[in-house]
Amino acid sequence: MFETLSDRLTTVFSSLRSKGRLSEADINATAREIRVALLEADVALPVVKDFIAQIKERAAGAEVSQALNPAQQVVKIVNEELINILGGETRRIRFAKTPPTVLMLAGLQGAGKTTLAGKLARWLKSEGHAPLLVAADLQRPNAVQQLQVVGERAGVPVFAPEPGSGVGDPVNVARRSIEQAKHAQHDIVIIDTAGRLGVDAEMMQQAIDIRDAVTPDDILFVVDAMVGQDAVNTAQAFMEGVGFDGVVLTKLDGDARGGAALSVRHVTGRPIMFASMGEKLEDFSVFHPDRMAGRILD
Ligand code: GDP
Repeated sequence: MFETLSDRLTTVFSSLRSKGRLSEADINATAREIRVALLEADVALPVVKDFIAQIKERAAGAEVSQALNPAQQVVKIVNEELINILGGETRRIRFAKTPPTVLMLAGLQGAGKTTLAGKLARWLKSEGHAPLLVAADLQRPNAVQQLQVVGERAGVPVFAPEPGSGVGDPVNVARRSIEQAKHAQHDIVIIDTAGRLGVDAEMMQQAIDIRDAVTPDDILFVVDAMVGQDAVNTAQAFMEGVGFDGVVLTKLDGDARGGAALSVRHVTGRPIMFASMGEKLEDFSVFHPDRMAGRILD
C-alpha cells in the first residue's frame, strides 16, 4: 500500500539528514520535491497546493528544537499534515437513537460495494451488533446472489426480493427491509445499492429515491482507490447527486500511489471511514488517519 509514495518521501527526507540547519533554500527545495512526489502519486492539484503551503509555512516557522534535527522536524510536520489531509480523527458510524441504524452504500459498479457490505456486516457482528444485509442492487445480474454468498460467509442474514417475484423495486425492497429489521430485532441495516460503470442519471436517481425512502443515518460512498484522481471526480458527482456522509476506500491492497486516499477528504469535505484491502471479508479496517500517515512515512 502506497509504496511508491513512501519511497519517494523517504528519498526526500534522506537528503536532509546531513543538514545542520535548514535555510530557506533548503525548505523550498524540499517542498518542491514533496510536491513532485504528491503529483506523481496522483494527488489532486488543489490538495497538493494546500499541503505544500502548509509545509513551507510550518517549516519556516519551526522553532529550533533541541530534541529533533531538521530532517526529523520536517518529517514531523509532514506527518502531521498528512494526518490532517486524511481527516484528523477517525469518524465513527452515527448510530440512530432508535434502532435500526440505517447504512446505505453508494458507488460505481465494481467499486467493491457488495464485498464491502459483507465486510461491514462481519465486523459489526463481531462488535456485538445484529446487522441485516439488504440486496437493493437489482440491476447487476447476480448481485443479489453475490450478496447472499457474502452474507452467508459473514454469518449475517440477507433481505432480498423473493425469488420469482420479478426484478422487484429497489426502493420497495429497502423500505420493507426496515420493517423486517424492526420485526427481527436487527439493530443495523446495511443497504447495498446498484452502481453503473460510470456516473449515470438513472442510477443517481435510484440512489436518491432509496435515500428518501429510508433516510439513512449514514450514506457511505464506496470507491476504488486504484483509480487515483478519477475517484475524486466520481466522489464529486456522488456528492452533488445523492450526497454522502463518509467514504470507504477499497482495493487499497493494489494502490501503490495513494492519490485517492490523500485527495478525497479535502475535495469532498467528507471523512474516510473505512478501508478495504483485499477480497477476503477480514481484509477490512476502520480508517485511522494517524496510522495511515504512519504507514506512508514508515
Ligand atoms: P460492486 O459492483 O461495487 O458491488 O463491487 P464488488 O463487491 O462486486 O467488487 C468488484 C470486484 O472487486 C470483485 O471481484 C471483488 O472481489 C473485488 N474487490 C472488492 N474489494 C476489494 C479489495 O479491497 N481488494 C481487492 N483486491 N479486490 C476487491
